Amino acid sequence: MGLPDNSGSAGKNQPGIHIGDTAEDILARWGFDTNNVSILPDRHPQYRECDRHGRFPISMVDEQDVIRYLPPVCPVCAAEKTSQRLMEIAAIPKRYMACGFDNYTIESPHQQQVLDVCRAYADHFDEEDRQGSSLILCGNPGTGKNHLASAIAHTVLSKGHSVLQVTAYDIIARIRQTWRRENGKGTELEVIRGFADVDLLIIDEVGKTFGSDGERVHLFEVIDHRYRDMKPTIILSNEGVDGVERFLGIAAFDRLCQNGELLILDWQSHRRGRASTSN
Ligand SMILES: [Zn+2]
Repeated sequence: MGLPDNSGSAGKNQPGIHIGDTAEDILARWGFDTNNVSILPDRHPQYRECDRHGRFPISMVDEQDVIRYLPPVCPVCAAEKTSQRLMEIAAIPKRYMACGFDNYTIESPHQQQVLDVCRAYADHFDEEDRQGSSLILCGNPGTGKNHLASAIAHTVLSKGHSVLQVTAYDIIARIRQTWRRENGKGTELEVIRGFADVDLLIIDEVGKTFGSDGERVHLFEVIDHRYRDMKPTIILSNEGVDGVERFLGIAAFDRLCQNGELLILDWQSHRRGRASTSN
């Protein structure tokens, strides 16, 4: 333990002497800060120091007074590393990498409302995740759909959830690849499951492809799998509500709306006359 053992026969005969107090006395005598519990080996919680994030506990005492040891890794650094790894597989388009809620331009009360809904969705994602609630963002190009979706993705990733951002075309193409029975492409069901398993799936450019019955079936399969597993999905579309419904089909659209929110971004494009990453 490093500190003198005070529990020997001499200690036993001295009522009132507590091992902890003795340790403090010794620390004080040697000029150590007695409030720094981390250098008292018999005290819990014990702490370590992260160069970037300061003190973090490496042990705790639970309700039953049992000492529990925590991983000796800074939890903030660990979360950052996880988030970085997730970010790499989230496939957020490069041009939206820096898009957060704080750099989203607000020019009208309606924009503020939409931002507030998206921010609340991201901030309370654990709850949205449990309920499987979805979001549909409809608006012309340049109204900031991708900016908001990426801001949600960053927040959700930072909470340790997995996110995947794909276009409707990606999903359709990926499923159709399996038809060619190429080695290593997986079966159709495996691919659908892959899209269904991620905690948050963001499907961009819904309505942009031709929208044949066959394409609709693929998207429906993915959305339906997620619906049955109660997993949240975000749909981004340049179409109006009717267009999204037509493209996805009534069944898939109903599933998304049943436990979700439809946001119409009907303000003027940000892109005209100003450099912006919004879409
Ligand atoms: Zn750290």
